[in-house]
Amino acid sequence: MSDCLFCKIAAGEIPSNKVYEDELVYAFYDIDPQAPTHFLVIPKAHIGSCGEISPENSAVVAHAFEVIAQVTKDLGVTDFRVVSNCGEQAGQSVHHLHFHVLAGRDMTWPPG
Ligand code: 5GP
Ligand code: ZN
Repeated sequence: MSDCLFCKIAAGEIPSNKVYEDELVYAFYDIDPQAPTHFLVIPKAHIGSCGEISPENSAVVAHAFEVIAQVTKDLGVTDFRVVSNCGEQAGQSVHHLHFHVLAGRDMTWPPG
């Protein structure tokens, strides 16, 4: 999609701090980290959000989770949270499907 920030990042048109890349997905550190480790995994092909996952495009979602398992291992991360905000009320600000991977701090709820 021509006017999508994460499509441009996946295409290398906007710089990012890459964690991992293959033909299907791109992973990069969040510009405003909410945890000591915070990266995003996105499909290279534009999907607007979790609400647009369908039988035609869902294979990339399974692949994204395989990548999350491998990249966290490579980073030495054992305990982590995966989050995808779907829709503005849920906190989605970039309308290209992305999985936040957060680690390195206590994320139990309630805290403490
Ligand atoms: P959302 O709010 O849609 O769930 O998550 C979007 C995430 O993208 C936010 O955590 C935000 O910090 C991150 N983000 C927004 N713009 C950029 C950017 O230009 N580069 C990087 N690396 N992250 C970005
Ligand atoms: Zn996009």
